[in-house]
Amino acid sequence: MFETDAADVAQRSSTGSLPPAPRVDELVAAAHARYAPLDEGDVADYIPELAEADPAWFGLALVGVDGRAHTAGDADVAFSIQSISKAFVFALVCDELGHELVHERVGVNNTGLPFNSVIALELNDGSPMNSMVNAGAIATTALVPAADAEDRWRRIRDGLSRFAGRPLDLDDVVHRSESLTNHRNRALARLLQSYGRLDVDPDETVDVYTRQCSLSVTAVDLAIMGATLADGGVNPVTGERVVSAEACRDTLALLASCGLYERSGEWLFEIGMPAKSGVAGGLVAVAPGKGAIGTFSPRLDPAGNSVRGQRACAHLSRSLGLNLFASDPAGPAPAGAAGPIGGTTR
Ligand code: GLN
Repeated sequence: MFETDAADVAQRSSTGSLPPAPRVDELVAAAHARYAPLDEGDVADYIPELAEADPAWFGLALVGVDGRAHTAGDADVAFSIQSISKAFVFALVCDELGHELVHERVGVNNTGLPFNSVIALELNDGSPMNSMVNAGAIATTALVPAADAEDRWRRIRDGLSRFAGRPLDLDDVVHRSESLTNHRNRALARLLQSYGRLDVDPDETVDVYTRQCSLSVTAVDLAIMGATLADGGVNPVTGERVVSAEACRDTLALLASCGLYERSGEWLFEIGMPAKSGVAGGLVAVAPGKGAIGTFSPRLDPAGNSVRGQRACAHLSRSLGLNLFASDPAGPAPAGAAGPIGGTTR
C-alpha cells in the first residue's frame, strides 16, 4: 500500500484558490519540518553519479499561478531532472503535433510495469504504451520535429528552459555517467526500431533522451515548470506562453494516469494530483488553475519515487486543498429541504 501518514491533516476541498500567501508559507514550512527527519528509502545507484547525492537533501517549493514562490529547505540545490523531463517533452510534442498523433504513435495507458521494462514492449506488440516510461519517452523524444539530433536537443533544452523561465544547463557529469551505463535504454530503442516504431537513429535518440534527463534543475524550477502546466501553458513568472492550454490538459491527464509508473493509481487515490517523479529525487505535482509543488529528496521507494517528496505532497494536497477529487457541496440546502436522514438535501 502507498505510504502516507497525512490522514490527520484536514482535507480541504479543491474548490476555489490557494489560501493567502502567509498561510501557504506556513503550510510549506510545516510539511518540510514534518518529513525532514524521515530516512526511509534509498538513493538511486544504477546511474553511478546519482549515488553521490546526499540522502539528507530535502527541498520543497510551491509556485502559484500568481508566480509567487513559497519554499523550505534545500529548494535551490541543483539535481538532474531525469524522468520529469518526460512530462515537459511530452507537452512540447503535444503542442507541436497534437492530441491525435501522440495518442496514436505512443499511447496514453499505464503499462502497470516498472519504468524501464522491456517486457512491457513485448507484451504490447511493440507499443510503448505511454510517454512516461522509458520506451515511450524515447519514442516521444524522436517525435520532436527537428532537422537532426543536435537540433532536436537544442529544441528540447530551449523548450524546458521556457517552462523553467531560465536557461537550463546540462549536468555533464551525470550525462557521462548515464551514457556509460544506459545499455537498457539502448536496447529499448533498438526494440522500438525492430517494431517499426522509431523513424530516427536509435543511438542518437537515446543520447538526446539521456541529455534531456541530465538537465540540471532545482525544486523551485520544478514548481515553476509545473505551475506553467497549471496556468494553461503560460509561465506565471515570465508571463511567456510556452505551450497551448490543450497541450497542458493532455499532459496533466497523462501524468494523472502514468506519472508515478505502476504506483500511479495509489498516488491518485491518496494525493489526487497529476505528478511526475525522477530517479535523482525530484517530484512535481500540479494543481490545475492553482499552481504546482516541486520537491527534491534523493531517497526513493522501490518504484523510483522520492519518499519525502511523496509524503510532503500528500500533506500539502490535504492542507492546501489540491486534491482534484475533493469537493464541497456547492451551497446551502434550500429552505425547508429535509435533512440528510430520510430525504434529499439538495
Ligand atoms: N534517465 C533515467 C533512465 O532512463 C530516468 C529514469 C527515471 O527518472 N525514472 O533510466
